[in-house]
Amino acid sequence: MIEILPAPWEVILGHARACYPRECCGILLGEVGADGGRRVTIAVACVNAYDGDQADRFELAPADQFEAQRLARREGLEVLGFFHSHPDCDAYFSATDLAHSWPWYSNLVVCVRQGEFDHARAFRANETQTESTPEELICPKS
Ligand SMILES: [Zn+2]
Repeated sequence: MIEILPAPWEVILGHARACYPRECCGILLGEVGADGGRRVTIAVACVNAYDGDQADRFELAPADQFEAQRLARREGLEVLGFFHSHPDCDAYFSATDLAHSWPWYSNLVVCVRQGEFDHARAFRANETQTESTPEELICPKS
């Protein structure tokens, strides 16, 4: 389970709208509860560093990942996962997404249609990045 608090949720949706019709990306910071549930308290909006058509691809710059890691440490949080948007495309976890994912981390995919938020889903990849499973997502009503 991954829960996203209102403040980071606004950051995610704002970034997804601003980057439309390109994919946006960013990093989710927060805490893991005693029951294993994840709670995102900070979302870091990052630049899509993919050098090509960004309509259906994104890439996080290593410097942004390093910076998010530092912020997490400073705030006593963990990097819980990543988010990106799918402009005019369902919020599914694509083969490309799976190939570029890491085990353990949550992957939030946000569908933006005609520039507006439509729906979101979360996924986790298995150890070998051959399969992803949906993760229960709790987010504010939009
Ligand atoms: Zn994707």
